[in-house]
Amino acid sequence: MTDMTFAALGLAEPILRALGDENYTHPTPIQGKAIPVLLAGRDLLGIAQTGTGKTAAFAIPMLQKLSVGHVPPGPKQARGLILAPTRELAVQIEQSLRTYGRHLNLRMAVILGGVNQNSQIRTMARGVDILVATPGRLLDLVQQKHVRLDAVQAFVVDEADRMLDMGFIRDVRKLVAMLPGQRQSMLFSATMPNDIATLAREMMNNPERIEVAPQGRTADRITQKLYHVAMPQKRQLLSHLLQDLAMNRVIVFTRTKHGANRVAQFLCKQDIVAEAIHGNKSQNARQRALDMFRNGKARVLVATDIAARGIDIDEISHVVNFELPNEPESYVHRIGRTARAGGEGVAISFCDPSERAYLRDIEKLTRNKIEVVAHDLPEPTPEELRQMQDAPRPPHGHRHGKPGHGKPGHKGGHNHGGQNHGGQNHGGQKPGGAGPKKRNGSRAHWNRKRDAA
Ligand code: AMP
Repeated sequence: MTDMTFAALGLAEPILRALGDENYTHPTPIQGKAIPVLLAGRDLLGIAQTGTGKTAAFAIPMLQKLSVGHVPPGPKQARGLILAPTRELAVQIEQSLRTYGRHLNLRMAVILGGVNQNSQIRTMARGVDILVATPGRLLDLVQQKHVRLDAVQAFVVDEADRMLDMGFIRDVRKLVAMLPGQRQSMLFSATMPNDIATLAREMMNNPERIEVAPQGRTADRITQKLYHVAMPQKRQLLSHLLQDLAMNRVIVFTRTKHGANRVAQFLCKQDIVAEAIHGNKSQNARQRALDMFRNGKARVLVATDIAARGIDIDEISHVVNFELPNEPESYVHRIGRTARAGGEGVAISFCDPSERAYLRDIEKLTRNKIEVVAHDLPEPTPEELRQMQDAPRPPHGHRHGKPGHGKPGHKGGHNHGGQNHGGQNHGGQKPGGAGPKKRNGSRAHWNRKRDAA
């Protein structure tokens, strides 16, 4: 947070009132820098991750500029346009706009893929003040002439680097080409790969560049812990840890969709309300799961990395990496789901011997050795040991080659408490042996058997 107040930024009274309703008194650093620049009409290049308050940084000036001397939009038109890479993020941005704009009389809409287009067409028929959209569906509706972009005065590309990752940059470029030349533009991105720098140059006019919280900074406020635990014991450890009621709003990350379903089902059997969210679910099912989690009806949300993109839920107490991600950057994204907006959080990771290489990559990227905690689970049963021995192959897809490429018996420098044998090479298992997933998303057979039990 900054020392200045929102009132000092010259915001209109209805917006200040809405921020007051949310108990937001002080702008975050990006808000403090971006709001004056945007109110002055400049273009803006914002280098910032989610969790910095960047949504309000562009939403508040947009609301203010479109509400002062309000000119109603014509049919099919939008005066403000925000592009977001994922459906979840688009919905969240629209919710933020409604929150900060609740005392203004502006019309908003969200256009996203994966759902029927008819209601979106109906909403757009009258025109809206601000439209939030994912690029593909918007382009589709523009080409079908259900949406017109000729009245856009304020334009935002949010999470541009994710647009690039997800292959949407061409669609974004096509949309930019349809916008009026006279407009204010903003682009936000956590990183600045060349393609994004080029897009920024093309779509903006001498933008002010604002950079906040370089990558990794959020991690300072997150307590990170690591359990060495064998794959077959992970679910048991999770339900054991969840006996701690301080874990009141928990995101559990798995690498696969099937894994997410199985963990959620397991927790539900233990009377822990859990919802799974992943790409195989319909948009409605995903939104329902998110709502359950957001309003506290579900204590645990089990998610894959892709499905969790852009999820912005405050006060997540704990992130659990049930499986370590094979991309170390995903670890940073995952743990950043907690400790939002200056808060604090805890990230707990489970590491099977086969995941040691992933762990090393993560520790290298974050330049941080994660504190190892010993668990006190009972010794694996003979059945579990047998399953671990049966484990057929190492996980695929590690970009530096075979996971578990470290020295056999390497213990990662951690301190095992009395009974912590879970993460060791029990039963003669080689590192890299207990493959937690296959590339096609299915489980190694030993794990499937266990799940069926
Ligand atoms: P964002 O980076 O836009 O995803 O925002 C992260 C979270 O910070 C959002 O969920 C907001 O609820 C919260 N937030 C944004 N601005 C403020 C503020 N000025 N004071 C307190 N919380 C904020």
